[in-house]
Amino acid sequence: MSDEHEEGKSCSGPQGPIDPDHQDCSAVMAEVWTLLDGECTAATRERLRHHLDECPACLRQYGVEERVKRLIAIKCAGEKAPETLRARLRIEISRTTIIRGQ
Ligand SMILES: [Zn+2]
Repeated sequence: MSDEHEEGKSCSGPQGPIDPDHQDCSAVMAEVWTLLDGECTAATRERLRHHLDECPACLRQYGVEERVKRLIAIKCAGEKAPETLRARLRIEISRTTIIRGQ
């Protein structure tokens, strides 16, 4: 017995609901995660911005779009993200990670 979806997902890996055209999305979430604790480098910012342009539904799908944009803006301005924002994002991201991993 299997509960797996059988919609012709070609993909390997645990990212079930991710569109095969957008495999970057999971990498992007990993970048966001890193950004929570780390520095915002120009490369990271560019990657995230670019991805948001290309794939506007991406972070919305996780329900974190606005928060991620805020995080990028704050971090890239060289400031520390407020603890509330970080905590919030941590929760949201780990929740989606759990969902995706099943
Ligand atoms: Zn995406």
